[in-house]
Amino acid sequence: MTTPTRAAGLDALRAFVPHAGADYRRDRNHDTGPARTNVSGLSPYIRHRLVTEQEVVDAVLDRHSLHTAEKFVQEVFWRTYWKGWLEQRPEVWRRYRGEVRDLLAGDLPAHYEDVVAGRSGIEAMDAWVRELVETGYLHNHTRMWFASIWVFTLELPWQLGADFFSRHLLDGDAASNTLSWRWVAGLQTRGKTYLATTENIARYTDGRFAPTGLATEARALDEEPFPAAVPVPSDDVDGRVGERVGLLLHEEDLEPESLLAASRSSGATVLNSVEPSAVLGWAGAANLDTVVVPYAPVGPVRERLDLLRTRLGAEGVALVTVRRRWDGRAWPYASRGFFPFRERIPGLVRVR
Ligand SMILES: Cc1cc2nc3c(=O)[nH]c(=O)nc-3n(C[C@H](O)[C@H](O)[C@H](O)COP(=O)(O)OP(=O)(O)OC[C@H]3O[C@@H](n4cnc5c(N)ncnc54)[C@H](O)[C@@H]3O)c2cc1C
Repeated sequence: MTTPTRAAGLDALRAFVPHAGADYRRDRNHDTGPARTNVSGLSPYIRHRLVTEQEVVDAVLDRHSLHTAEKFVQEVFWRTYWKGWLEQRPEVWRRYRGEVRDLLAGDLPAHYEDVVAGRSGIEAMDAWVRELVETGYLHNHTRMWFASIWVFTLELPWQLGADFFSRHLLDGDAASNTLSWRWVAGLQTRGKTYLATTENIARYTDGRFAPTGLATEARALDEEPFPAAVPVPSDDVDGRVGERVGLLLHEEDLEPESLLAASRSSGATVLNSVEPSAVLGWAGAANLDTVVVPYAPVGPVRERLDLLRTRLGAEGVALVTVRRRWDGRAWPYASRGFFPFRERIPGLVRVR
């Protein structure tokens, strides 16, 4: 059970830190079932920034050397990498969302409803669907097997699988989810697919599952090319913070203290809804001239903030976004593959 508070996230972090070194490196790929302790289970907290990436990495490096905790730290940076990559290619997100809308409005493949109801006939898939729906979480290796079986054995559109995940995962995230599904399907690293096999599943589930009849071939999917990448903006604060400031929080970043420090707007009134009429009412009642908001990366919150900016602007209220230095420093390096990005990690973790 994940308690959605910062205090619970910090407790979970403290409890996991001793295991983030050699234990994690050795055991992390095993999925022993919902009672697992070999991975941190921190993703719902980090994804919504109830606990930030910086805090997680700092806590781990206070206890372990970067060498010992390298694997764990790299995993945290996968999240940063995916966000930075998508930030530079917003069209990948827009096209995916459009394709999901079109697929859901059309004739769905006949077996889709059975698969998402946990009736695919593949015992492992059905158990994973139940775990996902009941707990909002799946182990990383299981997400890879799930996506691979969805695309290559069940031959369902990857977009519908990514959409199913994002509707049920507590850590559901535009970048990590969409781009991981694309990676399995051979779209992200062009031509390189991920094929789940019976042996690998049996080995890493410690024999809990050994599904047979899986696809033995994974031919990469194809797609129209995307427009050229757009550079990440260089400034962390995208406007002038006025005198009467309100802080608007949203699900991309729920840790206000360090943000307030960054925007120099301590003492701001705080609202936790991006619904335009609620924000306009709040800004009017408090006579605000500026609404400061954590930067929202490419995804649904960004889309809502873009609309809100126009509505607030019409009332003479500026919407100023504040991006964390963690993101501003790392994202420009996420322009190519993860391996060149990974080389930057030792320099990035020293950033405060
Ligand atoms: C098809 C597919 C879909 C995914 N969808 C999401 C998603 O919607 N949201 C999401 O947060 N992650 C997603 N992931 C990445 C990964 O599976 C989860 O972040 C991880 O399983 C979270 O569990 P944990 O906190 O116990 O991880 P740990 O192993 O304890 O890792 C520590 C932290 O590192 C980060 N991390 C670890 N692995 C990855 C990874 N492969 N990519 C990005 N960050 C990672 C997470 O913040 C995690 O909390 C997906 C992976 C796949 C293969």
